[in-house]
Amino acid sequence: MSTFDGLIREFPSIAIDNFKLRPGVNVYLLSHVHSDHLSGLAAKNWSSLIYCSQITAKWIPMLASRSSQTAFENGQSSTLERRYAHLSRYLRPLEVDIPNYLDLGNGRKVRCTLLPAHHCPGAVMFLLQDDRSCILYTGDARNEAVDLAALKAMKMFGFGAPQIDQLYLDTTCCHVAFKEFPSREIAISDLVTFINHRPRLAHYYIDAWTFGYEDIWIALSKAFQSKVHVSPYLYELYKAIDDMIEPKILPHLTLDGRSARFHSCRLGPTCGYGGAGGEHSSSRELIRIQPNVSWFSEVLRKERVQELETEREKQRFFQRGRVVGRIY
Ligand SMILES: [Zn+2]
Ligand SMILES: [Zn+2]
Repeated sequence: MSTFDGLIREFPSIAIDNFKLRPGVNVYLLSHVHSDHLSGLAAKNWSSLIYCSQITAKWIPMLASRSSQTAFENGQSSTLERRYAHLSRYLRPLEVDIPNYLDLGNGRKVRCTLLPAHHCPGAVMFLLQDDRSCILYTGDARNEAVDLAALKAMKMFGFGAPQIDQLYLDTTCCHVAFKEFPSREIAISDLVTFINHRPRLAHYYIDAWTFGYEDIWIALSKAFQSKVHVSPYLYELYKAIDDMIEPKILPHLTLDGRSARFHSCRLGPTCGYGGAGGEHSSSRELIRIQPNVSWFSEVLRKERVQELETEREKQRFFQRGRVVGRIY
């Protein structure tokens, strides 16, 4: 859950990922589509430009609430309620890795470069520079060492990386409990190994409750030659960005729940496996997989606490432990 107030102290006329209309702010930036970063955007009287990545700009007007998705899939509503459709005219997509100059007013401009955040499709970090300041806002970055090495914009200056004066950092995992945090590659490899040791007839529900689990879908689809069943709503979203993204996600998704061994659908009436009375529900095992970094926090925290010897250390540990931000 994002707790950032959206304000960039070095650039008071810029707000990021927090969309209360504020006097003096005339540049709004959006790092990605997760709902905790969209606060204020459902307001129908929104009237300012929003700069974001091309994928984010494509998805925002298409997003529907979970309750609307449920009503649509259960046939209680004939249409999806697109919460942010009114923003189409205000979204300004920018290319990743290409510096853009945005007008801050009063003759001041900021050089704004979007950098990949590897968090979910379209997620970016913002590098903001003028002749006074250089700041990096990471959003919910999930860059690993290999991703950081590939940051092209950091090499655009001819003399190495820019000096960052202020870092606005995603602190979700800045905690001792995440000391042994596995890489994305290892986590996915462990999941494939786990499934390899289960009966071949077992089915799996991958609890992808938001965007950002695409690497798991692709890996499972490739490893087990079975696509992942998703809702028509999700399928439509990934189809809309298919020509904008690598590796491709859509070829690993299916609308046919009866043919799929993996499900990130809503286990509703359209899923051959699913729900009460689903055609396979009594004959095959359905194993629920919930990929979530908070698992590492909880488990490692308990183990670590057992190692601590004094009450004082325990107390200090838990005080630090409260500084846990968003989960995924
Ligand atoms: Zn996020
Ligand atoms: Zn399904």
